[in-house]
Amino acid sequence: MSRLVYLDGGLVPAGEAKVSVFDHGYLYGDGVFEGIRCYSGVIFRLRQHIRRLYESAKSILIEIPMTPEEMEAAHVKTVAANGLKDAYIRTVVSRGPGDLGLDPRKCPTPTVVIIADAIKLFPPEMYETGIKTLTSGYRRTAVDAHTYQVKSLNYLNGIMAKIQANLAGMSEAIMLDSHGFVAEGTGENLFIVKDGVLVTPPGSAGILEGITRGALIELARKDGIPVEFRNITLHDVYVADECFLSGTAAEVMPVVELDMRKIGGGKPGPITNRLRKHFYDIARTDGTRVLYEA
Ligand code: PMP
Repeated sequence: MSRLVYLDGGLVPAGEAKVSVFDHGYLYGDGVFEGIRCYSGVIFRLRQHIRRLYESAKSILIEIPMTPEEMEAAHVKTVAANGLKDAYIRTVVSRGPGDLGLDPRKCPTPTVVIIADAIKLFPPEMYETGIKTLTSGYRRTAVDAHTYQVKSLNYLNGIMAKIQANLAGMSEAIMLDSHGFVAEGTGENLFIVKDGVLVTPPGSAGILEGITRGALIELARKDGIPVEFRNITLHDVYVADECFLSGTAAEVMPVVELDMRKIGGGKPGPITNRLRKHFYDIARTDGTRVLYEA
């Protein structure tokens, strides 16, 4: 069955879902996006994703040509129309078609795309063994460059870090902020566990504040695990008891090595595994339910 893609107000067959080469999302990376998961017919924390999308758009002065409620309904409709229960959703709002100059005043109408596709899972054994990582030389966008909190179409520093990891045979790269503190992975937030305390860098460490990160912080607190937000150094990660990454695609991914140092016992730790389980326990209910046609 051909997938249906939401494009500018309606569903079209995937092969016809085309965007102009004059769209500034394509020419300049001028736009914002979201990556969202649907678990067993429930779109995980859809409202939070839509809120972040609108906040990203507001920050870069894109006016999305529909209300958040209409956007939410469009997501539900797109997943339902494709008959998907478990899905990965990619939502893109770009500045829209303009001329070849970068001036956004030439782009009167933003382009809105929602793609729902079958989820591609990481191999299950990766969650059992954990992953090996390296520190990238590519930094997260500096805090005073303003855009690091925007989930924008500018991912080049993350992509360069990912290439570095690929070339070195590592599963993921850890990126530092402009001061040299540990920020996050290329598309995931980072946590360490030290002496029973869950520690994650604050928003001001150049990170994108993940929806998964937020859920895990809530789950840890409910489970009586103390949570601290503070700057983390590379040394802190090397000597941590546990480390993991969190994100919509990666979910809760244990990290067992950074820069050839084994973290903790070199295998996923007990708090990581507990939080992973808690996450799966809520994933199928904590969100917006899709209504499928009978
Ligand atoms: N950091 C970056 C740079 C990301 O792209 C993502 C993925 N959206 C995350 C962190 C994790 O965020 P979330 O849990 O909302 O997917």
